[in-house]
Amino acid sequence: MARTLSRSGKTAVRYSVTVARRNAPPGSQTSLREANRARVVETLKRHGRLTQIELAGSTGLSPATVSNIVKELTASGLLHTSFTSRSGRRATLVSLARQLGLVAGVHYSSRHLHIAIADTARTIVTQTSLPLPLDHRLDAELDRLSLLLGDMMETLGGSLSDLVAVGMALPAPIDPRTGMVSTPGLLRGWEGVDVAESLSARIGRQVHVDSEANLGGLAEAREGNGRTASSSVFIRVGHTISAGLIVGGDLFRGVNGKAGQIGHVTLDENGPICRCSNRGCLETYAGGPALLSLFPPSEGMHRLGDLLHAAEAGDGSARRVIADAGRHIGIAAASLCNLFDPELIIVGGELGQAGEILMAPMRHSLERTALPSGAGLPEIVGASFGEWAETRGAIAIALDHVTVDAQTLPTTTSIATTPPLPYSA
Ligand SMILES: [Zn+2]
Repeated sequence: MARTLSRSGKTAVRYSVTVARRNAPPGSQTSLREANRARVVETLKRHGRLTQIELAGSTGLSPATVSNIVKELTASGLLHTSFTSRSGRRATLVSLARQLGLVAGVHYSSRHLHIAIADTARTIVTQTSLPLPLDHRLDAELDRLSLLLGDMMETLGGSLSDLVAVGMALPAPIDPRTGMVSTPGLLRGWEGVDVAESLSARIGRQVHVDSEANLGGLAEAREGNGRTASSSVFIRVGHTISAGLIVGGDLFRGVNGKAGQIGHVTLDENGPICRCSNRGCLETYAGGPALLSLFPPSEGMHRLGDLLHAAEAGDGSARRVIADAGRHIGIAAASLCNLFDPELIIVGGELGQAGEILMAPMRHSLERTALPSGAGLPEIVGASFGEWAETRGAIAIALDHVTVDAQTLPTTTSIATTPPLPYSA
């Protein structure tokens, strides 16, 4: 371990612990131990932070085996333990060690940019958000993002090279085979380019991109309200409307990445023209622009935030407009339930913050239009992470792609990890 002075002037601790890699023969006690260690590390990468008991449940290993592995990997610097209390009892909380590096999560929604930097235990160490102009474009945005990420890393006493990966959420379906926006018209200015490659070329770090609904859904399924559900749908209601489909904790993307594009379910084939070139899509009735256009300019409803504030303040017409959107979304959600049959529906996005004003009419529509079943219809709940769900999902896919070798510790960063960082989620 060596001490270096970081750019911020704080003393940073550089860890460089190496455990010799063993090439154990398959089936031997040693290879079993290595496989068990790898399983513990993969589970922590996926869930962030777990108690030893939860870790035993998630890995299928016995509590005694988990306890031994945790002791061993904590001593070698790969894991970090702390104490917490669960149901009034003292429990050991385990996470990957913070000094393994940092990841960035980035969320471009239609009107906002959110950026968060987290350690491998998913503790957010710094975050920022900015408004975006309508019709933002890839080139200008990725140039600005590169500068912002560099500045944020500098305030932590590091540089871009200390990021081990970046995850990014975009407001359009992404083709998992090409990394490009898969449907023309849904994100003009970002089409025809491999977005991950384009950002990676600017910052020299690996980048992974998916749609905002998928990543919001992933965050909720891994560490939020969808954590205990076997399958869930995350419906993102904002400027646009889309859904992320989760089965067994993983995303179902479809061949082109457009599974869950609920905003383009046809409600009326003779309805208004949609930005996707079809007519009468759900978005033309319940998307942000459709809702805001219902108010005369004199009422000053320019953004969904204005509509939300008015509804919260008891404005009858604002509440009615949000309730009608909920009713329409409930009809499309009923079709989704008939096809996908999820256990839980989680409602996020800017308008998701309207809570029951939006969700109660959604439930009512779902009850009227979905196929009934003996066990009842899926519960509809709000998102745990509010406007940060998609950014947390971007952090999750970044971490999914980081290789943490349970046998050989990586050479690690010189980021200042003491004193405590300014924000902890
Ligand atoms: Zn459409």
